[in-house]
Amino acid sequence: MKHTRSIEAYEEAKKVIPGGVDSPVRAFGSVGGTPPFIDCGEGAYLVDVDGNRYIDYVQSWGPLIFGHCDPTVEAAVIETARKGLSFGAPTVLETELAEEIVSLFESIEKVRFVNSGTEAVMSAIRLARGYTGKDDIVKFKGCYHGHSDSLLVQAGSGAVTFGSPNSPGVPADFAKHTLLADYNDINSVKACFEASSEIACVVIEPIAGNMGLVPADEEFLRELRALCDEHGALLLFDEVMSGFRASLTGAQGLTDVKPDLVTLGKVIGGGMPVGAFGGRADIMAMLSPEGPVYQAGTLSGNPVAMAAGLAQIRQLKADVAIYDILQMRAQRLVDGLKSAADANDIPLQVDVRGSMFGFFFNDKPVKNFDDALNSDTDRFAKFHRAMLDRGFYFACSQFETGFISTKINEAMIDETIRNAHEVMGAL
Ligand SMILES: *Cc1c(COP(=O)(O)O)cnc(C)c1O
Repeated sequence: MKHTRSIEAYEEAKKVIPGGVDSPVRAFGSVGGTPPFIDCGEGAYLVDVDGNRYIDYVQSWGPLIFGHCDPTVEAAVIETARKGLSFGAPTVLETELAEEIVSLFESIEKVRFVNSGTEAVMSAIRLARGYTGKDDIVKFKGCYHGHSDSLLVQAGSGAVTFGSPNSPGVPADFAKHTLLADYNDINSVKACFEASSEIACVVIEPIAGNMGLVPADEEFLRELRALCDEHGALLLFDEVMSGFRASLTGAQGLTDVKPDLVTLGKVIGGGMPVGAFGGRADIMAMLSPEGPVYQAGTLSGNPVAMAAGLAQIRQLKADVAIYDILQMRAQRLVDGLKSAADANDIPLQVDVRGSMFGFFFNDKPVKNFDDALNSDTDRFAKFHRAMLDRGFYFACSQFETGFISTKINEAMIDETIRNAHEVMGAL
């Protein structure tokens, strides 16, 4: 496979864009090599500027559940764009998308649209703080909630601790309000509530997708709900990734636990920049202009983005069996990867939730971030590179989730597995 043009494009990009990319993971830092520069998408495939074709298991990191250039989404976008790109004034499309979300998610009575998942979680946390009058938050090691200051915090070694920033530029004065707990470990959350009586909310990915795929145990979520209630803290489910991915109602379709606030993104924008946060009406009523908590956006609720999101969500709602099909295919893929690994004595952990799949080169089950970090990232990098070279585009880090789109069929999955057998044989 030739990458001449991508290599050239990457060199040019690096001259004018830090690291040549607008989001760090795209630089392929943890797997090495040059990231393919993309020319276009075609259904299940990505096509790079050298003309190489790849079966795409990344799907723009989740949004494209109908794959690239889905005709229905494309038509909605073109039709809406013809009427103007942005007005900075209300449109009916915003209400329509809000109604779809509110009718599906029991926990969302009102919702506000923003431009990214980062903005959604950042705003939801401001709202939780405004509502409770408390400043601290609890987050889990390995969960990603975008790059806003209070959330760019991870643990030091081991025990629960007040957070220290893990990026320069985040003031320690902000980070100290973020307490860290271990995923699937309720005692670590109890320790946070013992350390602080000022906890506004606990934010969690109910199906973690940003340390690889690591679902929360049902019992853990139930205890988390009870702890929040006991201490007057809000429970925030960050479903930016799992929303409309794990099921039509995200992780909430797979658990009985109900959050107070929810963040969405990715699929609700159909590939356009959209985020949203919503929840109980009495909490959302605190938001400006109804209430005192300020939040705004020049391009928020952009009509073209709303149209793309609506086109995806209405298609999903019209045929809920899509999720069973996607889950079956995801399962077929990870079962195939697992048997390829087994055949070559390579330890592999696999899991699936709806259209999300994950695999760790790890000999033990992965329940939290520390477990995930014990994976063999060198082996992952070799696997990634070899598969890419054969035309299979997997997420470029061991700590990411993979996605099946409706355009990825069983034959493509079987072809992927056949190649994985050969690749694993050489690892
Ligand atoms: C992707 C993601 C975000 C951030 O969304 P952006 O649109 O990249 O800002 C936040 N939370 C979760 C769970 C995500 O997967």
